[in-house]
Amino acid sequence: MKFFEHIGKEIFKEEGISILEGHVAYTAEEAVDIASDMEKPVVLKSQVKVGGRGKAGGIKFPKNSGEVFHMASELLNMEIKGEKVKHLLVEEKADIKKEFFLSISIDRAAKQPIIMVSKEGGVDIEELAIKYPNKIIKSYVNPLAEFLPYQAREIAKKMGVESNLISPLGSVISKLYSLFQKYDAQIAEINPLILTDEGLIAADSKLEIENDAVFRHQNLAKVNNYKSKEFAFVKLDGDIAVIGNGAGLTLTGMDMIQLKGGKPATFLDIGGGASEKTIKKALNLVLNYPPVKVVFLNVLGGITRADDVAKGVIAALNSSDRKVNIVIRLTGTNEEEGQKLLKEAGIPFEISMEEAAEKAVIIRNSL
Ligand code: GDP
Ligand code: MN
Repeated sequence: MKFFEHIGKEIFKEEGISILEGHVAYTAEEAVDIASDMEKPVVLKSQVKVGGRGKAGGIKFPKNSGEVFHMASELLNMEIKGEKVKHLLVEEKADIKKEFFLSISIDRAAKQPIIMVSKEGGVDIEELAIKYPNKIIKSYVNPLAEFLPYQAREIAKKMGVESNLISPLGSVISKLYSLFQKYDAQIAEINPLILTDEGLIAADSKLEIENDAVFRHQNLAKVNNYKSKEFAFVKLDGDIAVIGNGAGLTLTGMDMIQLKGGKPATFLDIGGGASEKTIKKALNLVLNYPPVKVVFLNVLGGITRADDVAKGVIAALNSSDRKVNIVIRLTGTNEEEGQKLLKEAGIPFEISMEEAAEKAVIIRNSL
């Protein structure tokens, strides 16, 4: 199973390999939002599982937010080697001094892991491997013995880099090898591993784990397969906006509003694991839909954390010019924290969905 670059990088980070600040965007608007929040130059990187994306035009360097929008739209309409681009990594742009190549894979014939490194990394590595094969240093690792830090440093030394880089390079090689083992990887590769003023940073990731071992890494497999986070939004002819996490819960919320004598204005499913940002986006969507008089936000926290929901609600209401009545049903993971935040912000909430729906209709009828 191949992983997207941004997921590979999250794993690198957990293992102590430095990465650049980056966030995933599914739309050009989202890319603009993220880039402006980051307040520094960014690179837009299409997330696909095929290689050679840079050469195929899948990486862009926008100079301003207008370009972020246009380039992100362009990338999101692209297909790279038959793979549709569905999301982007909006990443801090690095000032690159050098590009190295580090790769660990399994040599089937030798039945051993093989570490390949080069001080000339980057997009032309395949060409380098063909034209100047001895510029790529290959070392086998005994899979049954511990791979020791000095062995990693020896590999780094063979790369022919300046002496002050041997120890930091060795450290990255050690960490890459340790995650290679931990995740039952087939390939763990950093190309390029860049040298910047901040040190060595993984500017790209390639991670592929054995299909037979995927069951040992369920959580990872789940995030890697997630669909677009764009929510399902349907405009209806009532005036109470119904927002829920999950289609079932959202539909139940609509039924409840109808049962209490109200009419839903929207069906808006924000999906599971909605972040503070998602909640803010969802609320902005319904606040910009003129027929909406009351918002009924129905959240059952599982993966979605109630405190994130509360923060999103507060942020959205603070940034909106429109005053609208909102009734929140908030329970589940971190509910005490979420409810406390709402209380402090003076936003009413209910624990029971039925009571919340009833309240929404009462407020609507009193307007
Ligand atoms: P790939 O083509 O899919 O392997 O994409 P990479 O993520 O490896 O990027 C390809 C090339 O784009 C790198 O080798 C760099 O030369 C360049 N690049 C990527 N990110 C940055 C960045 O943040 N700053 C600069 N200056 N160049 C970058
Ligand atoms: Mn690369």
